[in-house]
Amino acid sequence: LRKIDIETYFGVQVCVLDMNKTLKEIDNIINERKPSFIVAINPEKIMKAKNDEKLKNLLNSARLKIADGFGVLIASKLSGGKIKTRVTGIDLMQNICERSAKKGYKVFLLGAKPGVAENAARILKQRYKGLNIVGVKDGYFKDEDEVISDIKAKSPDILFVAMGSPKQELFITKNMKELNVPLLMGVGGSYDVICG
Ligand code: UDP
Repeated sequence: LRKIDIETYFGVQVCVLDMNKTLKEIDNIINERKPSFIVAINPEKIMKAKNDEKLKNLLNSARLKIADGFGVLIASKLSGGKIKTRVTGIDLMQNICERSAKKGYKVFLLGAKPGVAENAARILKQRYKGLNIVGVKDGYFKDEDEVISDIKAKSPDILFVAMGSPKQELFITKNMKELNVPLLMGVGGSYDVICG
């Protein structure tokens, strides 16, 4: 595997990757089948993590840290860094869905208010013909064990988690080993955006 360049802002790491390279890394991750997660870095997350060692380590433990926020691009430019383009979480999520439809990756949508993940699933399946969404579940569940069992039973290749930050990242890091899903990604309010 190629080494990915990393830039650090207030101790928070961001990968120097454009969209195409990110998608290639994702193919590698899915083929490896070793649970890895993606985090979208924006100035808001950097400010939250700046003085929170635990959150900082949690974000930095992601396999891919994408340059989601425009502010990250500015920071890179001002400090002579190499990040040239944003890779936003919403764009990456949709590109992963497009790729999943082509390659047959199974997708699970977790998070957002009841009904939203179902709606987003319907829209995504319409847009990316053949997309296999094996399960959906809202992000306001009481019984986490039940949700974990359901995801395990559906054995997706990709799990999107839309529960806001850092809640989604905490859910991912706590459960990724048990879930044994190759690729997990926190996507914030993306299902709401997809549903308009
Ligand atoms: N959400 C959730 N469970 C929670 C709290 C939030 O599923 O316990 C969902 C919420 O419905 C929304 C998303 O998480 O769809 C958070 O969106 P927001 O834009 O706040 O996230 P950000 O991208 O700013 O982290």
